[in-house]
Amino acid sequence: MRDDFSAGTKELLSKRVGFTCSNPECDQATSGPQADPTGVVNIGVAAHISAASPGGARYEEALSTEQRTDSSNGIWLCQTCAKLIDNDSTLFSRDVLEGWKRALSQGGCGRPDSKQGFRQYFPAGLREGRATHAGASRRDA
Ligand SMILES: [Zn+2]
Repeated sequence: MRDDFSAGTKELLSKRVGFTCSNPECDQATSGPQADPTGVVNIGVAAHISAASPGGARYEEALSTEQRTDSSNGIWLCQTCAKLIDNDSTLFSRDVLEGWKRALSQGGCGRPDSKQGFRQYFPAGLREGRATHAGASRRDA
């Protein structure tokens, strides 16, 4: 049994970060136009900080279904970063992911300019440019 987020929670998580990936080293737009002028392409994912089911990344048995499906347990990411954080849950701990969310929420409306502000939330491996997906950390270089 998976504790999935509701459509409303997914919408909240995506809007709070302006439909961009919450990984500050990525920052990719997760929403864009389809060829059909009335259509939208979504490549964003409402990822669980503590996994939706046992055996998943950062799963915490003590959480209730309500806590696990609450927006506080979710983070909006592009599909690549959603896979990345689940493949290395030691590097991408709850503390790291919550740090990303906290830094973004302090930015107010509009994407915070200050990537410096994120640095304190980065695990050492990420500060050194390891464990980011191809090209994501080199955009500003
Ligand atoms: Zn991303």
